[in-house]
Amino acid sequence: MNKKRQAIWDKSGGKCWYCGCNLPEKGWHADHFEPIQRNWWNGTCEHPERDTVENLVPACASCNLNKHSMPLESWRKIIQGYVFSLNRDSTQYRLAKRYGLVQETEVKVTFWFEENGY
Ligand SMILES: [Zn+2]
Repeated sequence: MNKKRQAIWDKSGGKCWYCGCNLPEKGWHADHFEPIQRNWWNGTCEHPERDTVENLVPACASCNLNKHSMPLESWRKIIQGYVFSLNRDSTQYRLAKRYGLVQETEVKVTFWFEENGY
């Protein structure tokens, strides 16, 4: 791991900044906490000044890809809405719930870094 990635990894001691899972040594992502909003059509970005080690946090691939270029609060709302869309769109989910395999809770989406004092 190069020095920059090591510094990012060390921010959480190898946990995903968002979900808190243990990151694999290979395949973890450095996420721009405040999104840089890369333009897919030419590779430029809206906020190049945010591309700093201070703004990069360690994240698992799932969280990084799902967060994409969303600000944190928008992403939180999206995740919070997943139970609603599962109930609306997924017969399998509704059946799994009916048979007791899934239990819904009213928990608010909280990220690892929030529960760990950052
Ligand atoms: Zn994660």
